[in-house]
Amino acid sequence: MGTSTHCPYCALQCGMTISATASIDAAEGGALCLKGWTSADLLTSPARLTTPLVRGPTGLRPATWDEALDHVATGLRRLSDRHGAQALGIMGGGGLTNETGYLLGKFARIALGTPMIDYNGRFCMSSAAAAMNRAFGMDRGLPFPVTDLRDADAIVLVGSNPAETMPPFMRHVAACAESGGLIVADPRVTPTARAAALHLQPAPGTDLALALGVLHAVVEGGRLDRAYVESRTTGFDAVWRVASAWWPERVERVTGVAAADQRQVAERLARAGNAYILTGRGAEQHSKGVDTVSAWIHVALALGLPGRPGSGFGCLTGQANGQGGREHGQKADQLPGYRSIADPLARAHVAAVWGVDPASLPGPGPSAYELLDGLGTPDGVRALLVFGTNPAVSAPNAAHVAERLAATDLLAVADVVLSETAALADVVFPVTQWAEGTGTVTNLEGRVLLRGHAVRPPEGVRTDLDVLHGLATRLGQPGERFPRSPEAVFDELRRASRGGKADYHGVTYARLRAGERLHWPVPEPDHPGTPRVFLDGFAHPDGRARFVPVRHQPPDERADAEYPLFATTGRVLAQYQSGAQTRQVARLMAVAGEMFAEIHPAVAARHGLAEGDPVRVVSRRGGVLAKVRLTPGIRPDTVFLPFHFPGSHRANLVTNPALDPLSRMPEFKVCAVRLERVP
Ligand code: SF4
Repeated sequence: MGTSTHCPYCALQCGMTISATASIDAAEGGALCLKGWTSADLLTSPARLTTPLVRGPTGLRPATWDEALDHVATGLRRLSDRHGAQALGIMGGGGLTNETGYLLGKFARIALGTPMIDYNGRFCMSSAAAAMNRAFGMDRGLPFPVTDLRDADAIVLVGSNPAETMPPFMRHVAACAESGGLIVADPRVTPTARAAALHLQPAPGTDLALALGVLHAVVEGGRLDRAYVESRTTGFDAVWRVASAWWPERVERVTGVAAADQRQVAERLARAGNAYILTGRGAEQHSKGVDTVSAWIHVALALGLPGRPGSGFGCLTGQANGQGGREHGQKADQLPGYRSIADPLARAHVAAVWGVDPASLPGPGPSAYELLDGLGTPDGVRALLVFGTNPAVSAPNAAHVAERLAATDLLAVADVVLSETAALADVVFPVTQWAEGTGTVTNLEGRVLLRGHAVRPPEGVRTDLDVLHGLATRLGQPGERFPRSPEAVFDELRRASRGGKADYHGVTYARLRAGERLHWPVPEPDHPGTPRVFLDGFAHPDGRARFVPVRHQPPDERADAEYPLFATTGRVLAQYQSGAQTRQVARLMAVAGEMFAEIHPAVAARHGLAEGDPVRVVSRRGGVLAKVRLTPGIRPDTVFLPFHFPGSHRANLVTNPALDPLSRMPEFKVCAVRLERVP
């Protein structure tokens, strides 16, 4: 008999049981990928931190918890007195529980009094979130249960590779793929693309133009769902004024995708009884990611898919709690319940729950990259607390970000292992990981899951909530304002989220323990949850979805004679995010242990490069070392770099921090590069 819990990694949050000896089984009827099967190895990793560390003259040395907490609290107070509260900042993560994310937001606004808090979800979901909020008035990644996809006749996946990033997801699209209904848009021939009946290979940075071409083909082919557009949406005419100029042959010249294929996508979606369009990071991680997602939403709206049973539009969330992590206040512009921190009513509601004056709450702060970029500067953050993220590897322009992290007066990191960011810190707090604690996460379909405490944490380790309680009380806060019990924090979160878009008021630990499947919003404890939102109307006050005109723009960086290729980044099956966790697992390292660059054989030959040769991929910001992987399926103008590896193998040494004007998402997915042979 084991304890039920959920995988520590991606947003699919596969169920598993874990025994007292840390052996893993898939939950009944479920499946796990290699990362899930080997996740227990993390619990016994020799790299595990079990003692707080404080930097001394010769580097990090072991310290007591009191010494580490005192050191950080004293530094925070000193820097706040000298430079003001905005000199204090927090970076959170989309893998943290709802309870930690919520308490981080509260800690920033009340205990530190700073607006300077953001999280790494800014790097992975913010464009999707902004586009869904704009179109539908609400951002729930999948507005329907993932199992609904099993009855789909057609699915278009744009910039998503779930066959590698979340393999059990493919079970939900298998029937559609077998009947020839799966369509994938990706510059690479990924395992997901190989499962598709139709694979479109747009040039990096042209997904928006591709969507305009498909929308044009929908209308041109007489497939516009006029009754739906008239009764459930606004703004179509303005969008059509743009899309009417993007006939498929013109789009073909920009994207490289054949006009006939664009028409086929439109036709297949229109003919399908049940059809879905889903986007992933490939469409979203651009300096125009919000508009790109909007353009695909427009295709879905033109066909009448969103808010119709058996059809829809969705974004595939990446991180374990990527959904919950963006709902409860660790984002620069948000308060719990997916409320805006600029909204006076939202501020009054949350301030009442917290027992503070609404006027004392800071306003919106800068986004993650902007916060990191300003570290150690006169107007920037001088003391940074980092929870559950590793920006020295995962942020764009990573060498610059590592420099900025090192330029802080105080850097404190709470983590499980000595990540590359923790190695730069002044203080490191060793904290519990997934199966060692209790807490909730919200998966990619908006379902709240309780991760039970399954194994005892090592001696010397504390929870994130313990760390926040210890710091808050040292900063003069009443202890009861920062509870250490996850259930107490969740009960407060329920009240803080009440009446918000992401309303968790009716979710309780008791209901989750009893096995109830609760998708938010769940306004009352007797409410059954909302597996499918938008069936009766969208979340804008008039109940209608919005078409918003969007225009194709080239990537922020053009290819030129000096940098003639485009680099794009992504994940591989056996690693996860910055690799801080998965690089500790020998069984994963045996499968994917070193950095590589996928390069078209013709391009490699032009550079005198053969399979396995070392190569430096160089952009205007720096170069990354990798081994050549000859890949006939990749576009000749494109180089693919996985972003899980550290040091000189960091893909983010080359990536472009150009930001989307709305979501402030960096352009991870395209930057201009050249290849250099390494002697
Ligand atoms: Fe874990 Fe995601 Fe793999 Fe499932 S698909 S086992 S949640 S990493």
